[in-house]
Order: sequence, then structure tokens, then C-alpha cells
Amino acid sequence: MNKVVLITGASRGIGRDIAEKLAQKGYQVIANYNRSEEKAKELKSKYANIDIYKADVSKREEVHNMIKSILEKYKKIDVLINNAGISLTGLFTDVTDKEWNKIINNDLYSVFCTTQEVLTNMIMRKEGCIINISSIWGIVGSSCESIYSVAKAGVDGMTKSLAKELGPSGIRVNSIAPGFIDTDMNKCYSKEDVQNIINDTPLEKIGQASDISKCIKWLIEDNFTTGQIIPVNGGLIIN
Ligand code: NAP
Repeated sequence: MNKVVLITGASRGIGRDIAEKLAQKGYQVIANYNRSEEKAKELKSKYANIDIYKADVSKREEVHNMIKSILEKYKKIDVLINNAGISLTGLFTDVTDKEWNKIINNDLYSVFCTTQEVLTNMIMRKEGCIINISSIWGIVGSSCESIYSVAKAGVDGMTKSLAKELGPSGIRVNSIAPGFIDTDMNKCYSKEDVQNIINDTPLEKIGQASDISKCIKWLIEDNFTTGQIIPVNGGLIIN
């Protein structure tokens, strides 16, 4: 059977592009969604090798049930792409406990849950590939996006630690840390804000979801890269 790839948050944006590009390459794609049911159904209708599963990945029980159902049907998950995420813009001093919990649960706890739930199967088979979508803001920090930055830095910490823990089990764990990508997540920014980002970017453009998908395809096929935080950002940050 072809490689089975689970992508969280694949109804829209980066996750959706990854799902389409991997389906076109012949992978068996499992596209997770939460709220955008119509978009997920439309995605499934376009590809025979895309299956869709609804789950709020910030909730353990929903993640557990989704992965149990996937494993009953497909027997394995070769690749887990932790992509689902939300952002929050605002002053640190204004952030409420409720907002903190929402961002941390959606962007960090979700990665803990999905990864734990797939690992038994990967460790048993002594192979697997986990790719976390973090952010440049987890690396350099972002004014007025501090909680999001905390969550993404946590994801990168998990990536590095798990790469060490799971390497001997044949499982690779990496992060892709995108820069500014043209998706719904950034619709809140004005034309002027976007132009300022472009001005600060050596390649003089913002990224497209397809730029992330290209890196994903390479990481899946690779077999000697683990524990890395791979920035795909047009040079917006250079470490
Ligand atoms: P987007 O266009 O807003 O799409 C977000 C996706 O995540 C949607 O498919 C949404 O599904 C899903 N999602 C959110 N919360 C979920 C939950 N609790 N359970 C299941 N699915 C959930 O965002 P995007 O730009 O593609 O972002 C994708 C990832 O890239 C995120 O982790 C984001 O932090 C990261 N990233 C984005 C950028 C950027 O500039 N766009 C930069 C750096 C990192 P439903 O609509 O079905 O709920």
C-alpha cells in the first residue's frame, strides 16, 4: 500500500495545498478538518486517494477516536503532518487566560496529542516521519503575537526532543517554520502591512502554500534529516 499521510487542518490554507500535492504524487492522504466541512468534502470529491476525518485536534478524545478509526481502516500512518493552527494578535498585557488556553491547546497541546496517538503504531513498525508546522515567530519571537510564538517555540522544542528520543526507533521528526504565507490566517493584515513584510524579505515576495508543500515532499522522501527546524521564509529571518 502507498504511504498513508495524516495532515491536520487540511480543509484550508497550507494543509489543503499539502493534501492536494501529496494526493497528486499518489500518497494515501487523510485530511483532518474541524469547522470547514463543506471545503473538506469538496477536497475529497476531487481525489480518490483523499479521505477526510473531522476532529478538533485540541481535544484528546476527538484525536484518539480519529486516529483509532484511521488505524482500523488503513492499519498504519507513515507520515504525520501537524499543521492545524490558529493565531492571536494583541498586546501581551491584554491576553486573557481563556485566550492563552485556546492558543496553547490548538497550537501546542494538539501536537502532543496527535503525536502520542500515532506513535504506538510507528514505534511498532520502527518507521515514521513526523513534520510539525511551526513558525518563524517561534524562533525569533513576535511583538503582539507572544502566545502564538510561545506555542510555536514549544512545538520546535518537542521536535528536537522527539528526534533524539525516536531516532533509534527509525522515526524522523522535523519542523517547517514558515514565514509570511498567503492564506486566510493573514487576511487581517492591510495591503500596507503586507508590503512592509515584502520590503523586509530578501526575495521580495510573500510565500505561497505551495512553497511549504515542496519542502514537505522533500522531507517525506528524505531519510537522513531529523531534529531540524527548517525555515521557509524568503530570507525574512536568517539565523
Ligand atoms: P488557515 O488558512 O487559517 O487554515 C487553518 C487550518 O487549520 C484550517 O484547515 C482549519 O480547519 C485548521 N484548524 C484550526 N484549528 C483546528 C483544530 N482545533 N482542529 C482541526 N483543525 C483545525 O491557516 P494556515 O496559514 O494554512 O496555517 C497552517 C499552519 O501554518 C498553522 O499551524 C499556522 O500557525 C502555520 N503558519 C502559517 C503561517 C502563515 O503566514 N500563513 C506562517 C507560519 C506558520 P477548519 O477550518 O476545518 O476548522
